[in-house]
Amino acid sequence: MKTLRSYVCGSWHEARTGLAPLVNPATEENIAQAGSDGIDFQAVLDHARQVGSPALRSLSWQQRGEILKSMSKVLRENRDELLALSRENSGTTLADGSFDVDGASGTLAYYYSLARTLGEKPFLMEGEATALSKSGELVGQHVLVPRRGVAVHINAFNFPTWGFAEKAACSILAGMPAITKPATATAALTERAIELIVAAGVLPPGALQLVVGSTGDLLDHLEPLDVVAFTGSADTARSLRSRAHLLEANVRFNVEADSLNAAVLAPDVAPGSATFELFVRDVVREISQKTGQKCTAVRRILVPAARLAATREALIAGLGRVVTGNAAAEGVTMGPLATAAQLADSLAGVAELRREAEILFGTGLRSDGVGSPAGKGYFLAPTLLEAADARAAQAIHRREVFAPVATVLPYDGGAGTAAELVALGEGTLVTSAYTDDPAWLGELVASGGSATGRLYVGSEAAAPEAPGSGAALPQNLHGGPGRAGGGEELGGVRGLGLYLQRVALQGSRSLFERI
Ligand code: NAP
Repeated sequence: MKTLRSYVCGSWHEARTGLAPLVNPATEENIAQAGSDGIDFQAVLDHARQVGSPALRSLSWQQRGEILKSMSKVLRENRDELLALSRENSGTTLADGSFDVDGASGTLAYYYSLARTLGEKPFLMEGEATALSKSGELVGQHVLVPRRGVAVHINAFNFPTWGFAEKAACSILAGMPAITKPATATAALTERAIELIVAAGVLPPGALQLVVGSTGDLLDHLEPLDVVAFTGSADTARSLRSRAHLLEANVRFNVEADSLNAAVLAPDVAPGSATFELFVRDVVREISQKTGQKCTAVRRILVPAARLAATREALIAGLGRVVTGNAAAEGVTMGPLATAAQLADSLAGVAELRREAEILFGTGLRSDGVGSPAGKGYFLAPTLLEAADARAAQAIHRREVFAPVATVLPYDGGAGTAAELVALGEGTLVTSAYTDDPAWLGELVASGGSATGRLYVGSEAAAPEAPGSGAALPQNLHGGPGRAGGGEELGGVRGLGLYLQRVALQGSRSLFERI
């Protein structure tokens, strides 16, 4: 069986012990094994610090952008192979695999374009200089300088390509070498993507290393100018970010974690309208895309009580068209969950939600999948629930079921009421609102905006081009407050901020102008 390898210190390392199996989630067949035994993590960090960091910092923004462009090209040229691997290791349909693989090449390409706008200085100017003296000659100017450290990227299982690429794009462009660690269960795709990129010779030495399997004692050797960017569950985030060594060294730690995202239908939206149709289309897609294994998927659907019957009917019709099964089989539109552990956790989660909500559609139980042997595969068909009392519900607002599972919650009142209910999720990555009423929207932004990282607004005018609330576009912030981790990624040039040090320059305006 194939053993996945790590790319460390400029060569490929294959572990011989401590190997965990990777399976095809549609058939439960073993496809590979992976582990990191034998890696000297201090040497990995030294390689990044001594080789990768100076190599990247010696390049201009534009030259680092060229690296991202080449990485993007490699992913695009090998798209078919990567999509096939995505199906084998993650069970994805073509469309779901493309969300990950094309999302990765698109994000790298976006940051290449951005690099071309960053100028010639080896640091970025932030805002205008501010006068500090009467004459105006003494000024303060904030600048952003690449940190002389290492970026450690720890990613979740659900985006093996995009997850590595969106973080690597920002740190490499910012001049920081990256050590990327994918979730072991779906690491085959990340390993192959990086193997192709390394083989293409587009990376400076030490700029990107890959650890497949455990990170061993890596985190215990981090230093104050290093950065950890973590995506995964809130529990893992808590245990990692509170490690004594990381706290003592004050290592920057960015977290993207769980999120009970809400879709809110406003009272002005009538069934049959373009905005209502968009709401239904988006919500059905956000429940079923990537089998609901998206941090941005809709988990709660807030609907005015007067629109409940029409919403139920439309969502049930939409979810009824989803065909769950082995993505290799004809007609299948949604694959399995990625692992046995995810299936077990999701079934337990649905059982918890059912204490507060009735099932409207689906069973909330494991099913067989079209095209898979009976009894095999981690299948859970779309499951829609409804809770009568949105305010009294507890688990609905707290328990993230990482699967095609969502709950309809009726509400009465204005945007303020909707915002209060959304806030019961204690911080989300994205909230989607469907309305054509500017007054309602203004109230929602003012009263509910602080509980979410992104507010996606579906309306009649936006409907023809709306990408859906689940897409984390590189132009805008990805991250959210509270339960969502409190982190910030992407967002154009802001995405580089995690890897740059802000410095307040104080001194002569005329001197600064000539740097
Ligand atoms: P997870 O179990 O927390 O694992 C996340 C990552 O942490 C994996 O790479 C895992 O590696 C690693 N890890 C676990 N223990 C570690 C340790 N002691 N030291 C170093 N690394 C460690 O989460 P998951 O099951 O992969 O992902 C699902 C969760 O991620 C969901 O809750 C979802 O909401 C969240 N998520 C959030 C976002 C976002 O952007 N906000 C995006 C996607 C997913 P191993 O696989 O080797 O254990």
